[in-house]
Amino acid sequence: MFFRDIPGQQDIKGRLIQSVMSGRVSHAQLFLGPEGCGNLPMAVAYARYISCLKRNENDSCGTCSSCIKYNKFIHPDLHFIFPVNSGKKKLDHPVSDDYINEWREKLLQNPWFIETEWYEFIGIENKQGFIGKDESQQIIRKLSLKPFESDHKILIIWLPERMNPAAANKLLKLIEEPPDMTVIIMVSESTEKILPTILSRLQVHRFSRISDKEMKTSLKKKFDLPENQLDNLIHISDGNYHRVLEIMDSSEEIALFLDKFASLMRICHQKNINMLVSLADELHAFGREKLKRFLDYSLKMIRENYAMNYNRQELVYLSSEEKSFSERFHPYVNRKNVHDIYTLLNKASGDIESNAYARIVLLDIGLQLFGRLEVEGDLT
Ligand SMILES: [Zn+2]
Repeated sequence: MFFRDIPGQQDIKGRLIQSVMSGRVSHAQLFLGPEGCGNLPMAVAYARYISCLKRNENDSCGTCSSCIKYNKFIHPDLHFIFPVNSGKKKLDHPVSDDYINEWREKLLQNPWFIETEWYEFIGIENKQGFIGKDESQQIIRKLSLKPFESDHKILIIWLPERMNPAAANKLLKLIEEPPDMTVIIMVSESTEKILPTILSRLQVHRFSRISDKEMKTSLKKKFDLPENQLDNLIHISDGNYHRVLEIMDSSEEIALFLDKFASLMRICHQKNINMLVSLADELHAFGREKLKRFLDYSLKMIRENYAMNYNRQELVYLSSEEKSFSERFHPYVNRKNVHDIYTLLNKASGDIESNAYARIVLLDIGLQLFGRLEVEGDLT
């Protein structure tokens, strides 16, 4: 993560760069702002910049020995604290270090994630994460060490509002009497649950939503989209870059699902066994969760096409690509076969859920659909 990867927030970038250039990096800072404003990516970019050995006036170099370690978030003077819970690991006293590999992986995938996505990623989605007193012991131990390679030790605390009071009080002491050459960066969406005594000791950087203009400049570089789609994306995302990535991810997946659904229907109509075998292999490779989403998508398409067939246009919710496919496909879903198709897809989804071998399930529904996709008059 570099400053240049974060859309907008020019004032904050300027101030952070200036603090490093003038040797006045405040030892306790808060990056405060709404979802998708980039406060976590900025904390990581700033930490990299503080440690970079060949920084310039705009960004880190990306090639020095420090930057190379930052590429994988394994710099020995970079520490992270974030909310965790025992989850599948069944830990008695979970701390961030128990999940550090998952944390690095998540940051590498996409540093714009939000709290619920983090819990889902580490398999504790039904529980609230927390930063407990065991964690504060570790913070104190880590920060009492001398820096290994950089001039500074940097601790990034993501969501300090998830600290329990014991941890927060220990942290307060640390902020009041900071160990030498230590920078603590807290990243939060809301100050409501942060102890006022902590808050009053932090240098606060307030992030705002990313402006439409800055969003556009950034999206133009990243995505190859026609102007009207770009404007639409900016409008829907409302200055939230996390939302942009979410929309782009889901629209890619939907395009893929439509393509595979159309293939499946075509193959079943043509009763082409060889193509069915190779499609089943492709879909098998999706993995369980994605395959379930694909089957849900297929159920939706069957439902919508059935509604279309009976001119229930008010019930049809389809994108323009889906509509153009459905214009041709809808006569093949009718009252003589809709129940069977729906039941087969539903059963397949249930089988996948209970860990049945996906390739066999897919071949089975395909074969059962052979001969059933016909226009109503052709069905006996
Ligand atoms: Zn560097």
